[in-house]
Amino acid sequence: MSPSTVPEPSPTPDQPPVVEPRPTDESRPVRETRAIREPRPPREYTPPKPDVIRADDDSEDALPTIYLKPGEADRILVGHPWVYESSVLRLTRQAADGEVVQVKDHRRRLLGVGFYNSKSKIRVRVLSPNRVEIDEAFLEQRIAAALAHRRRFLPEATSFRVVNAEGDRLSGLIVDKYEDVLVVQMSSLGMDCRKQEIVRILERLLAPRAIVERNDMGARKFEGLEDANGVLSGALTDAEQAALPVRLNGLKFEVNLVSGHKTGLYLDQQPNHAFVARLAKGARVLDAFSFMGGFALTAARAGAKSVVGIDQSEEAITTARRLAEENGFAAVCTFETANVFDWLRARTGIAETGPETASAAPGAVATDPAFDLIILDPPSFTRNRASVPDALRGYKEIHLRALKLLAPGGILATFCCSHHVDAQTFEAAILEAARDAHRLLRRVAVYTQSPDHPVFPSVPETEYLKGFAFEVVGA
Ligand code: SAH
Repeated sequence: MSPSTVPEPSPTPDQPPVVEPRPTDESRPVRETRAIREPRPPREYTPPKPDVIRADDDSEDALPTIYLKPGEADRILVGHPWVYESSVLRLTRQAADGEVVQVKDHRRRLLGVGFYNSKSKIRVRVLSPNRVEIDEAFLEQRIAAALAHRRRFLPEATSFRVVNAEGDRLSGLIVDKYEDVLVVQMSSLGMDCRKQEIVRILERLLAPRAIVERNDMGARKFEGLEDANGVLSGALTDAEQAALPVRLNGLKFEVNLVSGHKTGLYLDQQPNHAFVARLAKGARVLDAFSFMGGFALTAARAGAKSVVGIDQSEEAITTARRLAEENGFAAVCTFETANVFDWLRARTGIAETGPETASAAPGAVATDPAFDLIILDPPSFTRNRASVPDALRGYKEIHLRALKLLAPGGILATFCCSHHVDAQTFEAAILEAARDAHRLLRRVAVYTQSPDHPVFPSVPETEYLKGFAFEVVGA
């Protein structure tokens, strides 16, 4: 599944040397002051120009200013919050790590204000395009806006991601709500320095029973931050931290806040569990890469005839079995600890997809089509662009084998959570598999990440999860 936040930035290529910026005519204020009695406003709409800051803004009482090299402003202007080290032309005066700075282009136009960190490749994380005060009130307003977005687009959910970093214009901050408990992650120094403010804001907005920090993700070391885990406010017993009950789509699940994946659970699939379940009535279902059975249990509730869940994590499968029981679906659900590649190979034989399948179990036998609905929700097979070809071979193999196990008229619901594999590339890998499996696929649904993981198209890193459902069209 997905990384806990957007992928780490890769260093941008070195820029050609540039000359120091100097004030130009364009750097002067451009908005005209019109006489009050001027007859009419101009007819054409003129897009607002970014504020033009006068030269005296570099004076000592203004914020430290980062000037960008020519050509580096466009990304920031359309809303991307990351200012890379390699984009920086100069800093007007030394800023402390975590301090608020203003960012300007080489013509001195304001691009925004944000948190500075000299230790990170992302020198500034821009929070606003305007020169606003970045204080507790600002953060509260942003977090409240994020919460309002969930209430609008996920009105039924009781557990969801309240803040998803760049997706909520709060780079470096993740907040998950598991019923009345909140889990926070700060992956930037600027946010980490404001932990106490953030805790106060969350207490005011959501009155949680407890707030827990899960600050142990790899990204922190790129910001010069140590790991930190524990309860920040309220109280939780050890038992609760190890198995906190939560509801997804009204079904009972649980989160392990101590050793769980990400901040404990994959919230990004919540609506897709329900969408895919609509295809499950009366079906024999395979939930491959099931984790705790998010798709499996929702399909069981929707009236699946039988459900098999496969995951390589023993802990996830043990929990899934117990949850099937607690939700009342033990009679239709079976969970197995296995590597999905091996499990599929054992049922579809050695074949077709090249040398990487050579390890298939010798003598494996192809079975009859055994399923009417197969769900594939693997983890990301690639964390970088270089390994995309390997990832595509992996995607092709599981699709090819899954298609062999699908009955005619059956449905394959499949997901890809790698940011580096876009929907088109993913679909092309599926179609290659279909060609090799001699199956004709009709696309019947397109899926994306849950609305609590919002996407800004101008910030490509905010989009990672894509999925499709295909119907296998009979001969
Ligand atoms: N479908 C789940 C989320 C799946 S996350 C949901 O909606 O909640 C991906 C899962 O794949 C993880 O639980 C991980 O343990 C499992 N996994 C990773 N590689 C695997 C493999 N080769 N075989 C089986 N499971 C695997």
